[in-house]
Amino acid sequence: MDLNDAFYKSLLDNLYDGIYFVDRQRKITYWNKGAERISGFCAEEVQDNYCWNNILRHINDQGVALCHGICPLAATILDGQAREASVYLHHKEGHRVPVLVRTAPLRDAHNDIVGAIEIFSDNTLQSMITQRVTELEKLALLDPLTQLANRRYIEMNLHSRLEELRRYHWPFGVLFLDVDHFKLINDTYGHTMGDEILRMLARTFTANMRTSDIFGRWGGEEFVAIVRNVDHEHLYNLAERLRILIAESYLIEKLSVIHVTISIGGTLARADDTVESLLQRADQLMYQSKTAGRNRVIIAAS
Ligand code: GH3
Ligand code: MG
Ligand code: MG
Repeated sequence: MDLNDAFYKSLLDNLYDGIYFVDRQRKITYWNKGAERISGFCAEEVQDNYCWNNILRHINDQGVALCHGICPLAATILDGQAREASVYLHHKEGHRVPVLVRTAPLRDAHNDIVGAIEIFSDNTLQSMITQRVTELEKLALLDPLTQLANRRYIEMNLHSRLEELRRYHWPFGVLFLDVDHFKLINDTYGHTMGDEILRMLARTFTANMRTSDIFGRWGGEEFVAIVRNVDHEHLYNLAERLRILIAESYLIEKLSVIHVTISIGGTLARADDTVESLLQRADQLMYQSKTAGRNRVIIAAS
């Protein structure tokens, strides 16, 4: 790989992990931003230096220095085998940082080993905790099937929006969206295809929302949209556009073309609303759309 190539360089620079390249003598030829973040050394400080030369000085958990003798990078350059090891690198500020190191050979066009690449990830408890919290947050607030916000997130968000409406008079509206005759879709094409349809709907929603909007899965085949900074007309236009886009979307299975439609109810929030009263009003309007024949939108004045 030619690292002068700006595309690859920016790709590698933007990876979270530390990455560096060495030649056969273990002279550092490339050092990415992740390596800088984890080790404290910037590219200018390490490039063209030898990695065993007072820079990282990996040690294992017995305190044995790996640079001479059992360095995984050196071993990989010799035998071409990829390796993985938990080691402690020397941070520029002096302390030891636990990292998971992976090495792989770098080969030229003739398949000869010209050096090696080392990827090291931050193995500290702190970084694992941060990652774990993000995962838990995702699990707790994301709907796994559609990757939209889940019911809990919708409720939390509505609380905040209502608070803002009362304090700053920032208007927002809510749409309640329910798939028409969805049971029939499951019964005819199976539950898996039903799930596929739900994911297709979610893609339509996310592709057509503004960054300030929230689309969430309320449960089953019911969705809620929270739309900020709207009036009656804009809320109606958004709902109508979604209704049409969904009626015009389809999946093909074998010889069938599978369509669904949605019924939508929508309303603007009032300062005296609670989360429950607001959703109930939107839900009732959605129900009116159903009884009026489905595949339609009813937005009521608040
Ligand atoms: P209506 O037009 O009156 O809304 O008819 P409907 O069939 O959509 O109404 P109903 O509420 O009776 O049925 C909803 C169906 O949605 C029943 C259930 O099997 C299906 N469903 C709920 N959650 C999921 C899901 O996660 N995946 C799939 N495939 N189906 C689901
Ligand atoms: Mg329903
Ligand atoms: Mg339904």
